[in-house]
Amino acid sequence: MPPVLRFAPSPNGPLHLGHAYSALLNFDMARASGGRLLLRIEDIDPTRCRPEFEAAIYEDLAWLGLAWEVPVRRQSEHLDEYRRAVERLAEQGLIYPSFESRAEIARLVAEREAHGVWPRDPDGAPLYPGNAKRLSAAERARLIDSGAPYSLRLDMTAAIARARDLSWHERGEGPNGKTGRIAAAPHAWGDVVLARKETPTSYHLSVVIDDALQGVTEVVRGEDLFHATSVHRLLQHLLGLAEPAYRHHRLIRDEAGLKLSKSTGATGLRELRASGMSAAELRRRIGLP
Ligand code: GLU
Repeated sequence: MPPVLRFAPSPNGPLHLGHAYSALLNFDMARASGGRLLLRIEDIDPTRCRPEFEAAIYEDLAWLGLAWEVPVRRQSEHLDEYRRAVERLAEQGLIYPSFESRAEIARLVAEREAHGVWPRDPDGAPLYPGNAKRLSAAERARLIDSGAPYSLRLDMTAAIARARDLSWHERGEGPNGKTGRIAAAPHAWGDVVLARKETPTSYHLSVVIDDALQGVTEVVRGEDLFHATSVHRLLQHLLGLAEPAYRHHRLIRDEAGLKLSKSTGATGLRELRASGMSAAELRRRIGLP
């Protein structure tokens, strides 16, 4: 079976040099191995994703010389599949709703931090500090029926109890230079949100479902997602999904050494193209043959 790779941008801003690096690595690796390259549009967040960004993605990638299979999978067209996966986890008793607003969560974290250190996830966000797991079924039903907004969280302790000693196969360097089998450490993320009242999914959930459904065998993506792979392995296990290999690559940084952001300025692919740069010059600038 030929390898299956994918590039999975979110159309919530313009593409920059970092996206180009990831897309070209996937493209080059697919070509070198006689594999397939899929493009997936990760557009589950209707408040941030816009059609003009999606149109620009196709334009920028074509300019880079990429070719991908069609039809392109757009996550917003598959919300029911994600909803069903959350239901399956709920049937296993692994999901609970929490009702605190962002402001309430911030207040609870501040309260906890006033008494000592409150743990943060690998991205630096505080773990969920609330007690929603302990609400009674009746209280949950009452709050949901009242129309209150809610998040559906994974009960991490219960989930890990069903999936001990998970690991993934890392072919890239990762942030600590380790390759081979990497032990997953999902507890570091706490009770992650897998869906919300208004959006029946999340990045973590959709990415594992789609990678499995599309038969992706090798996930090539930035090392900023290295630690998230722990959550992805756990969800794959709980949902009985196939496990791809991972290759986390270095990030392209700006002159100050910072990760590139969505407000692209000088590193935007559109701007570079308008400045007269060719795709071959762009490859050289980011260290690709
Ligand atoms: N959609 C994610 C992003 O644009 C990438 C997801 C992935 O490669 O797993 O950052």
